[in-house]
Amino acid sequence: EKNGADWIQLDEPFLVTDLAYRQKEAYINAYGKLSRQFPQIKFLIASYFESLGNNIALASSLPVSALHLDLVNAPQQLNEILPIVPKEMVLSLGVINGRNIWKNDYSRSIKLIKQAINKLGRERVMIAPSSSLLHVPVDLDYEDKLDPEIKNWLAFSKQKLNEINEIYRIIENKDDSLLTKNKAAKKSRELSSLIHNEIVKQNTAAVSKNDFARKSSFAERQKKQRAKISLPLFPTTTIGSFPQTDDIRRLRNKLKKGELTSEQYENDIKAAIESVIYWQDEAGLDVLVHGEFERNDMVEYFGEMLEGFAFTSNGWVQSYGSRCVKPPVIYGDVSRSKDMTVKWSKFAQSKTQKPVKGMLTGPVTILQWSFIRDDQPRSETAMLITLAIRDEVLALEKAGIQIIQIDEPAFREGLPLRKQDWQEYLDWAVKAFRVASAGVQDETQIHTHMCYSEFNDIIKSIADLDADVITIETSRSQMELLGAFANFKYPNEIGPGVYDIHSPRVPTVDEMLSLLKKASALLPVQNLWVNPDCGLKTRKWLETEESLKNMVKAALILRRMTNFNV
Ligand code: GLN
Ligand code: ZN
Repeated sequence: EKNGADWIQLDEPFLVTDLAYRQKEAYINAYGKLSRQFPQIKFLIASYFESLGNNIALASSLPVSALHLDLVNAPQQLNEILPIVPKEMVLSLGVINGRNIWKNDYSRSIKLIKQAINKLGRERVMIAPSSSLLHVPVDLDYEDKLDPEIKNWLAFSKQKLNEINEIYRIIENKDDSLLTKNKAAKKSRELSSLIHNEIVKQNTAAVSKNDFARKSSFAERQKKQRAKISLPLFPTTTIGSFPQTDDIRRLRNKLKKGELTSEQYENDIKAAIESVIYWQDEAGLDVLVHGEFERNDMVEYFGEMLEGFAFTSNGWVQSYGSRCVKPPVIYGDVSRSKDMTVKWSKFAQSKTQKPVKGMLTGPVTILQWSFIRDDQPRSETAMLITLAIRDEVLALEKAGIQIIQIDEPAFREGLPLRKQDWQEYLDWAVKAFRVASAGVQDETQIHTHMCYSEFNDIIKSIADLDADVITIETSRSQMELLGAFANFKYPNEIGPGVYDIHSPRVPTVDEMLSLLKKASALLPVQNLWVNPDCGLKTRKWLETEESLKNMVKAALILRRMTNFNV
């Protein structure tokens, strides 16, 4: 106010969640106070990501000048709010997608805007992106490596601002050439042969009940797996990646720049795999991994190998506040035309007598961490990715890999904001995991991994995944998260992380031992695994070696104690 602002926007995405009575009351009090204290300021409340739902009456009753609605994710709420919007309140219509990278469908947006103008008059209607543009890359203009056909379907932040301007011009000046051009881009995408793959569509249609479940029950599988893969009590393993050193990153860079032939690159990666296998063997780990040295990122790596994905050169977006990622763009029917991981896993397995765990990113995580198609439901795109991952699982099995891990760190993150929408998501997300994993023989052990996650309210779905082993992040919570599994009497095997990989600190044997004892008190000991919280790619070698050696020692001590007690 002191600096002369007329308008102030307050972001309130909390308004699209389930609110308790006292929370609603807090809104009324807070905004009442604000508006009384700053009568000159026009406040705009921005809601986004989902519908205001049953908070619509609350939101529109607040003493503010304008209310912003996400009409990309929840267009129907316009019908609900128009009859009750107070006199003089301005509506800001979020018609441009702030979270995805597709060109706007002008006809659809204009229809919504005109509906609002008819009721409120043009002075009381604003046109905006659905949410902040933080979630999309900055500028499409610099993407000179993208297929021009695909590029013509996209809009990044800068282009989205221009779209707002164009929509305004179409409405104001009836500049139909802009509309015609937009329609043509839309048509080109709908009809493009790049998007549609008949074989993929047939395969998806052919998925049936048989594909949703393993051949036998977990108890049956566990017996067969124990007969085939001999492991001690409290088997030790890791989550997949080993330190991504500068040397490893340099290899990838050199390959990209053409300074290394793919043969040289392959040999260097194999050398890294060989040495990490020997190291694990010697350290006494029971289930080994190949180290994931060939992967830039757990989603990008798979996207680059699958059909239906495109990549940007500069399409960085912020993730988790401090990190940046370059999500792939899923534009078409996803399919797998070649092996993605088999070569590396097979090579690793050839270097040891111990089992090597194959390592894949799961369909839900690939979906969550990509820009996805907006021309079909999320669940359908998930099923396409699922079938591609299933094929890779089967190829690994065929190549002699007996243990396969399908990582789903983003499983919980995919939940809708409102509880009433959860079940629908959980149903298809669980189905995706089951279809991806259920094709293998009983003797093949399927693992999954999830990062920091609350399990209490989704434990039934976690159990429904029916993974033979799940590894989770539990060390920072001192095994508290295991409570959900214990209360549920979770039947399958579980590896609660015994040390925090986000810190360089080397945990002592005693610390890990006491965590493992806690876990043993909660769950049947014959179902427990010993592993770190997550992958080790951000760690240095020195601390990794020491930590894992201590972890193996802790497992040995516990084994001795338990056998003694039995
Ligand atoms: N397998 C992956 C790794 O070890 C899992 C990473 C994750 O859960 N985010 O890096
Ligand atoms: Zn993790």
